[in-house]
Amino acid sequence: MDKQQDFVLRTIEERGVKFVRLWFTDVVGTLKSVAVAPAEVEGAFAEGVGIDGSAIEGLTRAYEADVLAHPDPSTFQILPWRGEVDPTARMFCDINTPDGQPAVSDPRNVLKRTLAKAAERGFTFYTHPEIEFYLLKDSDWANGGAQPIDTAGYFDNVPGGTAHDFRRRSVRMLEDIGISVEFSHHEAGPGQNEIDLRYADALTTADNIMTFRTVIKEVAMEQGVYATFMPKPFAQHPGSGMHTHMSLFEGDNNAFYEAGAKHQLSKVGRQFIAGLLHFAPEITAITNQYVNSYKRLWGGGEAPAFANWGHNNRSALVRVPVYKPGKGQSARIEYRAIDSAANPYLAYSVLLAAGLKGIEEGMDLPAEAEENAWELTDTERKALGYKPLPSSLNNAITLMEESELVAETLGSKVFDYVLRNKRQEWADYRNQVTNFELRSNLETL
Ligand code: GLN
Ligand code: MG
Ligand code: MG
Ligand code: MG
Repeated sequence: MDKQQDFVLRTIEERGVKFVRLWFTDVVGTLKSVAVAPAEVEGAFAEGVGIDGSAIEGLTRAYEADVLAHPDPSTFQILPWRGEVDPTARMFCDINTPDGQPAVSDPRNVLKRTLAKAAERGFTFYTHPEIEFYLLKDSDWANGGAQPIDTAGYFDNVPGGTAHDFRRRSVRMLEDIGISVEFSHHEAGPGQNEIDLRYADALTTADNIMTFRTVIKEVAMEQGVYATFMPKPFAQHPGSGMHTHMSLFEGDNNAFYEAGAKHQLSKVGRQFIAGLLHFAPEITAITNQYVNSYKRLWGGGEAPAFANWGHNNRSALVRVPVYKPGKGQSARIEYRAIDSAANPYLAYSVLLAAGLKGIEEGMDLPAEAEENAWELTDTERKALGYKPLPSSLNNAITLMEESELVAETLGSKVFDYVLRNKRQEWADYRNQVTNFELRSNLETL
């Protein structure tokens, strides 16, 4: 038994933990949980916990065998919303096959594999997300009656407002579960909020995002409101993005930083961005995985739709923020397409893989965008080389199908599974007769 496992067992004993939830994530990014009694935890560390994978999307179904969940002791946390009495704790799990191999269909493993590739080249990948979401009155939202909880806007301070209490309570709870929050504020849409997590290695960040979604849903329920990470719940209001800031470190040094270079951006940083721009269209089915994601990308509201980059340009897909003097270690780039409903393990895998490929192939960074990409004509954008992101889930799937980068990064099982799942979603969507069609066609045709 290693030290961390020992620490977990002692904490369970000392704090009188009554349930331990073992968490893992399916291929589409849904959090799964199985609760075990404290007495089972030692055995879970040694042998794993058998899971009937047949019930889990993209786990066993992708390769038909039972799997074992192995809790990662470094992720042990007491769940603050369960209260002090008979506490409940959780650990994230790695999913293995019965013969001890990492399950090819475990998204956490896909990210671990990709991080290992970066590590072979001497890089550690750090990320921090800005997570946007809407708070709705718990009304008849499913039938198109979604009501935001307020009418406030960007950075508004709503005295005594639900959103204020909501953010305070959520941030407290996130800190209690070991997730540091950097900023939180009201976003531009009514009822829309943003909470930014402090940077961490990408695996920790992905785990934190999964936890974050649960915490936000729990706090919302507690306060009688409803939280949604749907990318574009309202056609007339901005969507919910999950802008992610990324950097590569070599040892203690930020590999994106070069004093005196343009925007203090090193060659590695420039090549990483070049890779992102090159592969952006084919990885979008992963960073923006729902039919609804494309309503956000193409619906304005500061979402990017073209593969370009800029220094502090908020219409660009990749933004290079201004670093404060002397803060070279904070050098980073921001990828703005990814939305709040992405599977963070898979999305961070493809983003990292795209950036690494840019470095590996020494890709050249195109000229920076200084104008608002939305205000140009198609011809102008073409002349500038701004490739459009896919305009629908269907187009995104078509591009991903041909992508060696995505196939190689996800592994063939997850790749096939995502494709199957997304083709089905598109087919289901295509089969709808929408209000839009009825409104525009029923009378006139
Ligand atoms: N909500 C916008 C998006 O969808 C982002 C707004 C912002 O943070 N500037 O990406
Ligand atoms: Mg922000
Ligand atoms: Mg924002
Ligand atoms: Mg941002």
